[in-house]
Amino acid sequence: MASVSRVLSRSQLETLAQHGEERTAAVGETLFEIGDETYPFIAIVEGEAAVLDGAGQEIVRHGASGFLGEMNLLSGQTVFLTAVVTEPMRYIAVDRDVLKQLLFDDSDLSDLLLSAFMQRRELLQREQGIGIEIVGPRDSADTRRLLEFARRQKLPHSWISPAESEEAASLDPAEIPLVRLPGGAELRRPSNGELSRALGVGLELSAREEVDLLVIGGGPAGLGAAVYGASEGLDTLVIESTVLGGQAGSSRRIENYLGFPAGISGTELTGRAVTQARKFGARTGSPYRAEALEPGPDRHLVRLEGGIEIAARAVLLSTGAEYRRLPVDGLDRYEGISVFYAAGPPEAQLCGAQRVAVVGGGNSAAQAAVWLARGGALVTLLHRRADLGETMSSYLLDELERFGVAVRDRSEITALHGEEGHLEAVTLSAGTRLPFSFVFLFLGASPCTEWLGETVARDSKGFILTGPEANAEGLLETSVPGVYAAGDVRAGSIKRCATAVGEGATVVRFVHERLAPARA
Ligand SMILES: Cc1cc2nc3c(=O)[nH]c(=O)nc-3n(C[C@H](O)[C@H](O)[C@H](O)COP(=O)(O)OP(=O)(O)OC[C@H]3O[C@@H](n4cnc5c(N)ncnc54)[C@H](O)[C@@H]3O)c2cc1C
Repeated sequence: MASVSRVLSRSQLETLAQHGEERTAAVGETLFEIGDETYPFIAIVEGEAAVLDGAGQEIVRHGASGFLGEMNLLSGQTVFLTAVVTEPMRYIAVDRDVLKQLLFDDSDLSDLLLSAFMQRRELLQREQGIGIEIVGPRDSADTRRLLEFARRQKLPHSWISPAESEEAASLDPAEIPLVRLPGGAELRRPSNGELSRALGVGLELSAREEVDLLVIGGGPAGLGAAVYGASEGLDTLVIESTVLGGQAGSSRRIENYLGFPAGISGTELTGRAVTQARKFGARTGSPYRAEALEPGPDRHLVRLEGGIEIAARAVLLSTGAEYRRLPVDGLDRYEGISVFYAAGPPEAQLCGAQRVAVVGGGNSAAQAAVWLARGGALVTLLHRRADLGETMSSYLLDELERFGVAVRDRSEITALHGEEGHLEAVTLSAGTRLPFSFVFLFLGASPCTEWLGETVARDSKGFILTGPEANAEGLLETSVPGVYAAGDVRAGSIKRCATAVGEGATVVRFVHERLAPARA
């Protein structure tokens, strides 16, 4: 991991010295160790330290002008590596909170440290034996849930089969999966929230919190609002029911986001946004699900699962939408590899001369089918009704014919077949098996708004109305003054990352206008 060994300039060391404490350490001394709750940022003036994994294996060494630390310095997550002095050291220790402030003020230092921390985290995720251990059968839904959670949270982790663990073999099945934390503590069949909080990831919310701006949903819209809200002085809290990043975080490659001509993975784009929001002082709590909104004249009350309540002067609803998935076993193993929810240029290229199924009877399915067929794919459109004309525009029916898309009526997929995410065939409800290498799903999206009940006005599909349609004053304001909606959850929004970010950022302006008289 030599490439993660970056160096600080002399002036950066001087800046750090002004904000930290100079210390010395002898050979063999431990600077921090696995299981510690936190550690300071360490900038090495002289000497050298080695970073070790749980088995005592050396991962990397850092020398003079190098520094120790990775993402958990910012997230506050439990330490999962040990650092030991290998040559007498003189170093500057900077407290975590002081460092965060410094990153805010010093953009060069911020660029250097943030990119190194993120790169180190990515490399650690690829190493075996670092971070948490999830012991449970691969085919158990709870094991898969925890593995997916660890993957999306970028937690370094390893999966261990119960057959390889004597302890797990002796446990009651209700206690599996077993999760071993850095430092040795164990959790039995934890919820994502229990695991997260046991690791110190994100913050533990108090029974009652009071904030200026509460953002519900940590996708692009919520993160956009968090960055602009926190950077413009609002006490901002983001709560997220699953993993920060939203739908965008699950996209393998976002090709159309401004500023990334070569594309960027959804995890990287949203991971950077989370880091940026935290850098500006936004707090992020996940996983916490909002369960009820109770509007008030001055503050709105939002109740979260677990009995926590948050009183906020302004609330942003950015809970997005969930694409409807196929109710078939093992779908998640294929998603992102051979099952997709959008068809763009990369997919068209991937599918050239391949057998492809597009599932859905709406215009979006037709557009995708035509697009893929034009790219050279052999496309079959599968839909469950007797006549496609009931759900699709006639010009698109003509286009399907023109570009040679085969249409199968009354066809529903009941099983996927393939290996390691690579699809080979599907089975239809009538029992027919058809060979396909890729499947595109256009089954519509449902907004995540059921929890709101009748509190805010929604359209017939459940999307939140804003502006004139909601009889609201502000453009992005809902039918409840001081409660805003942005991104995919908003009726009429354009379902794209950039528009979601833009709407989230715009809401901050309206929040300032609302709070200004109260502050004056
Ligand atoms: C696979 C895939 C690929 C995509 N590719 C592209 C692309 O290339 N380019 C592009 O522009 N767009 C793309 N999109 C669309 C884009 O990701 C969305 O438009 C964007 O993520 C919408 O952002 P959002 O913040 O409004 O909502 P979301 O991203 O849906 O985020 C909403 C968040 O709110 C959380 N939430 C829901 N309910 C609650 C609750 N009760 N309490 C707390 N939190 C809650 C959810 O867990 C979620 O994290 C893609 C989408 C998908 C699924």
